[in-house]
Amino acid sequence: MNSQAGPVTLPIGAVSQLRMELRHQLQSVAGESAQVEADLLLMTVLDCNRAQLFSAGDEPITAAQHRQLTTLVGRRLQGEPMAYILGKREFWSLDLTVNGATLIPRPETEQLVEIALQEITGEQARVADLGTGSGAIALALASERPHWQLIATDASQAALEVANGNARALALSNVEFRQGEWFAPLAGEQFDLIISNPPYVADDDPCLEQGDTAMEPRMALAAGDDGLDDLRQLIGGAAEFLHTGGQLLLEHGNDQRAELTRLLTTAGWQQIRYYEDLAGHDRCLLATRG
Ligand code: GLN
Repeated sequence: MNSQAGPVTLPIGAVSQLRMELRHQLQSVAGESAQVEADLLLMTVLDCNRAQLFSAGDEPITAAQHRQLTTLVGRRLQGEPMAYILGKREFWSLDLTVNGATLIPRPETEQLVEIALQEITGEQARVADLGTGSGAIALALASERPHWQLIATDASQAALEVANGNARALALSNVEFRQGEWFAPLAGEQFDLIISNPPYVADDDPCLEQGDTAMEPRMALAAGDDGLDDLRQLIGGAAEFLHTGGQLLLEHGNDQRAELTRLLTTAGWQQIRYYEDLAGHDRCLLATRG
């Protein structure tokens, strides 16, 4: 058995039997999603789609496929997120490559894309996506607005390599990637919109140790005692890099609204609006440079 696979033992049996066995084995990490995850792993190893998997029935898998499956299941049982095992996650209908250097794009972040598309009505616009990770927000905007010019930044060179690869795979050429912290890569430039899903979780929040989050890059998630360290910098510094009337669009934590309002007002931002996610939690804000 592959040493990475730990204690996993799978019967060498028919596909239908493996589907059941895998569901049981994945229950502890995947809960209600155990069957979905079992099927995704099988589809990966067998290189087939769902319909082909369901119709495979009594067909056996090969010894090589069995070895690969055992390795993948072992990784999952050790808590590695499915997105990292499969190496991809869908965002805004784009198939994005992700790995341990990037946050796994969340469905709630699609709302930032939606708001940006509603707010910026011109055909031409210059937009900066700060802390782009896998490139999710910038690439979604680039795919919807081919005439916008996007600058996507990240402090992590490893994340930028993933983002760059995604841009190439999607043949999106209107995004320029730059390495650096927050405003450093924007020196001397001004934009119509600055958009970011920064880290905003408090350092001691137990959610950082739970589920997929435990294996994601800490620098993309945690932001000091109150989770506001990076949001403070963004709110404090963005105006200089926006045209008059330019907008700042930020994702944030669901319990940060009061403090964010105080910070935004103190820094002179106007027309502050908050948006809830699908769970009804405050999740992002839009503010205008006065
Ligand atoms: N919403 C994410 C979570 O709950 C946090 C993402 C972020 O910090 N930008 O894990």
